[in-house]
Amino acid sequence: MTVWGNGLAIQPTVSNGGQFGAPRGQGRTHAGADFIGYSELRAIEPGRVTFAGVLTPAAGVSVAIDLPSKIDGHIVTIVRMHIKEGSLRVSKGSHVVAGQLIGLMGDSGNAQGKCDHVEVRFFRNGALQKTVDPVSWIARRIGGRPAVLSSDQRVAKAFVNGRTAPTRQAPIRGSLARGITGTFNGFTRGERVEGNDIWFRGAFTGLWFWSGAFTSTSTQGLAQV
Ligand SMILES: [Zn+2]
Repeated sequence: MTVWGNGLAIQPTVSNGGQFGAPRGQGRTHAGADFIGYSELRAIEPGRVTFAGVLTPAAGVSVAIDLPSKIDGHIVTIVRMHIKEGSLRVSKGSHVVAGQLIGLMGDSGNAQGKCDHVEVRFFRNGALQKTVDPVSWIARRIGGRPAVLSSDQRVAKAFVNGRTAPTRQAPIRGSLARGITGTFNGFTRGERVEGNDIWFRGAFTGLWFWSGAFTSTSTQGLAQV
């Protein structure tokens, strides 16, 4: 069973700027999603607690739970950060069921206000392989039909304009410079253009970028939107 961090099948709100992939300065991006609007943090999946305490000064009080079985050969770990000091209800080695109370929402570490930072990490041979958008990942595990199935990162091989719709006639609202990695959560087919007519939608900007300007035009990992 899978639930959202509030213990329900109803998706909680993600804070402004708390989306997965949102820029965090110095080329870094937000590796999780910051959910708000509830106080009891509940286990999203069953599993074994592999960490409970202060993970790093930035993360603050955190809990890591490993899912009972591998997914695509990866150990999947769900990490929660910024938990209220003194509120932990689990300890390292505990086994939890989905929906079990693990602590209270707080702002420990470098949180900008109270939030439930949820991070979904995939490990292989002890090495972190990737983190994925918790919103689409949890929605899929619950069995709902998220508007967007997944996100993926692409590197711009040229300057690329971000447009408000998947057509070159649409207004430009931003751009990505060459070598910049963008996070995209879907594609569509816009106008017919020479060679390639796929457009990628920016995961947190909502802008459309023509795929011909990226090192990969593959649509693997992206949802048709
Ligand atoms: Zn966060």
